Amino acid sequence: MISDYLISGKNKTPFKPKSVDQMPHSLSGLSYKEWRDARKKNHKWRNIRWSVLLFMNLLFVASFVLDLSVLEGSLSGSRLIGFYLMDPYNSLQLLAISSTTGYIAMLTMNFWIGFITILLFWFIFGGRGFCSWMCPYHILAEWAEKLHNYLIKKKKIKEHHYNTALRFIFFVGFILLAVLTKNLVFENLNMVGIISKSLIYGPSLLLLWVLAVILFEVFVSKRFWCRYVCPIGTTYSFVGKLSPLSIKFDLDKCGYCLECQKVCLVPHELWFVQRGKATQNVHYAGSDCTRYGLCVDVCPGNALTYAVRGASSLT
Ligand code: SF4
Ligand code: SF4
Repeated sequence: MISDYLISGKNKTPFKPKSVDQMPHSLSGLSYKEWRDARKKNHKWRNIRWSVLLFMNLLFVASFVLDLSVLEGSLSGSRLIGFYLMDPYNSLQLLAISSTTGYIAMLTMNFWIGFITILLFWFIFGGRGFCSWMCPYHILAEWAEKLHNYLIKKKKIKEHHYNTALRFIFFVGFILLAVLTKNLVFENLNMVGIISKSLIYGPSLLLLWVLAVILFEVFVSKRFWCRYVCPIGTTYSFVGKLSPLSIKFDLDKCGYCLECQKVCLVPHELWFVQRGKATQNVHYAGSDCTRYGLCVDVCPGNALTYAVRGASSLT
């Protein structure tokens, strides 16, 4: 339905929470614990996603090392079988610099092709889908998060949360810095570019910056860079606002266990899974969702699935 694209349902009156008789574990004749533990070791989507991510990043490496002309360049700017692809935030900075210096007409056709193609591709495939299916930093941050969660569980450290609106300040701030300095300043801090180029062309000193951020995420605040800073993720979040590919929630199958929110990078996008919060039988995760599918893996009731909005589920 077209309303699925436009209405999150957040401002509507919530449904009453389901009674015990209506809960999925009761309907399937299981105890709550048996039902909840059923999917604990399911890693289907995580394994598929990691395979895609590693394959794509290794394809860059193989293309360079073996001189294959398949996927040349890096995740900051590349050519796929001769077809240009641009990092969208990189492109926005270039646009900002060239439009304030009067050189916008000098931007090449390949720039525009690369910029528009990547926007269209990631619009179809879920905006921040780039983060979890392509970005090499994401996989490092996932492992750092495991360590962070272990230290929290052992009460060695405390979690620190910040305001997620911080990333809009960074988004605008780095554009302004680019305009003021006429340089792509963010590129010196960009996890995606640093790791991608280091994998392809060999390690650089900038990896020390990556290490520092990872350590901060392990000991202070999990997923700090992706949640509060990275303007590339924010750009893809804008791109994914009306994306057809999303995570679909089916209230009938939900048992309010909250396992999905525990594993989610952006749990605010799953607000409707909490008891008494859903306002529709079907909700879709919002544009900050990276479509990384851990929630789909862990959901004991199969209430979360990959889906094309308004059409049937894919899983
Ligand atoms: S937010 Fe940035 S660093 Fe994090 S996964 Fe997305 S693109 Fe990569
Ligand atoms: S959608 Fe979330 S809260 Fe509901 S059953 Fe699945 S994991 Fe539990």
